[in-house]
Amino acid sequence: MHSLFDTIGASVLVVIFLVLFVLETKLQLRKRVQLRFKRIFINSIVSLPAFMLLRFLMLPIIVFLCQLNLSYHFGFTYLFDFPYWAETIIVFLILDYGNYLWHWLNHKFTFLWRFHLVHHTDHDLDITTAFRFHFGEMIGSVFFRGAISFLSGATPAQVILYEILFEAATQFHHSNLKLPVRFEKFLNYFIVTPKMHGIHHSIVKAETNSNYSVIFSLWDRLHGTMKANINQDSIVIGEPSYSNPEELTVGYLLKMPFKKIRQPTKMD
Ligand SMILES: [Zn+2]
Repeated sequence: MHSLFDTIGASVLVVIFLVLFVLETKLQLRKRVQLRFKRIFINSIVSLPAFMLLRFLMLPIIVFLCQLNLSYHFGFTYLFDFPYWAETIIVFLILDYGNYLWHWLNHKFTFLWRFHLVHHTDHDLDITTAFRFHFGEMIGSVFFRGAISFLSGATPAQVILYEILFEAATQFHHSNLKLPVRFEKFLNYFIVTPKMHGIHHSIVKAETNSNYSVIFSLWDRLHGTMKANINQDSIVIGEPSYSNPEELTVGYLLKMPFKKIRQPTKMD
């Protein structure tokens, strides 16, 4: 089952990365404040341990749990007798809602925030930010996402397919891509767009405490955490207490969760 991720998934994700990388260079949404290539270097190195854990720890565990679902007919979808396509939609919604909650928890609990903070200290937001996650956050998500996948009754194919969509959506909404206004507004009724997620990376507390959804924007609407119509030119990306990009080296970022976190971390 991992081959589905390694072949089709990896190819699709590389193509999406290259397309977005070129497009966000030509059609910029927010002005860059840092040297692009320095950030490509930092974000790629920071992402390596997290990526290894995703591929060699999280995916195998989740696939194993979903194989148990298949063997024991365990999980939410086994309570009903829906056709497979309907089950797939239900599973995608459950997994995506789980990721909304996981992201929200990362902002609410100091212990989890220590790790998620590394992602938010980026002073620009573009496709490379989509990879800037501390490996500790990945370990935490193994438990949370594993549990949600198990309880949902997902099959191995469904979780792998969702994971590919999840990674594609993460690349898309972190990108610095300027889309036609009406097209983005239309898309945003259904999915998280670059403008919507840009607000989440603002240094303003009320803006960061919004827009937690990953694929479907529905969850923020349901929870009243949706924020839109904020001018992207007025958004300053990052964390106010980590305003000096010079200190945010690869070593510093990897050690960050284990050090004292600077307060206040957000501007009101
Ligand atoms: Zn966040």
